[in-house]
Amino acid sequence: MDIIFYVIVFVLGLCFGSFVNMLVYRTALRYNLTKSQFLISNDKKKRSFCDYCGKQLKWYENVPVISWLVLKGKTKCCHKKLPISYPIVELLMGVIFVVFYFVGAYGNTPVQLILGFLIVVLLAFSAVFDWKYMILPDFSTIILIIIAFLGVIFDESNIIPYLLSVLISAGFLLILNLITKGKGMGMGDVKFALFMGLFLGYPKIIIAFYVAFIVGAIYGIILMIFKKAKKKSQVPFGPFLILGTIIAWWWGEKIVELIKLRL
Ligand SMILES: [Zn+2]
Repeated sequence: MDIIFYVIVFVLGLCFGSFVNMLVYRTALRYNLTKSQFLISNDKKKRSFCDYCGKQLKWYENVPVISWLVLKGKTKCCHKKLPISYPIVELLMGVIFVVFYFVGAYGNTPVQLILGFLIVVLLAFSAVFDWKYMILPDFSTIILIIIAFLGVIFDESNIIPYLLSVLISAGFLLILNLITKGKGMGMGDVKFALFMGLFLGYPKIIIAFYVAFIVGAIYGIILMIFKKAKKKSQVPFGPFLILGTIIAWWWGEKIVELIKLRL
């Protein structure tokens, strides 16, 4: 019955996926993690341009997924190869938006719904950026912490459990950071754990970490089997923390109930 709503949410997700791709690319430029052959002038910053030659893109070159397919993964202006991660991120965002809308892991007010979608977009940005560059950018983590903090202040009568879960989550990752001398766990992960603790609270924070470590370990084992992790190649942990956060956020209460029934 609400099929039309889901289609709208899916298309919205595709568009925000495209936005995430652009934000990742421009943040990487700002951090000097990737080079651009051209200088971005101020007026170009506002509109989409080609990653390679800086030419302004026409609207039909910038339609999520479809443009990539029609142009066979190459730029129209200079025929350079565009990463396959572009349409993948767009499609994933479409699906994630629909699932988020379906699960309804937000409050009853439109403000909560919009903040929920904002959190989803920021999490996706952080995950993609960490996956590509092994950095969880501070600015997105800070915005997430502020939103989570406001959420706790406005929604909860007792913030002590949240402060405790912050201490546990950030403290735990900080200890791992110190033990591995920053190699296994970066400070970006520790800061992100501040957000997780504040946003999820106890006991959902436990579920988030459980999922992150299990899935991260499975991924590490798969890499080793395919011998991709031969050299001391590092695996970013941010995407797994973010996956754990999303699962604990959307299904945490149900999982906690299930565990209680079993006990
Ligand atoms: Zn070009």
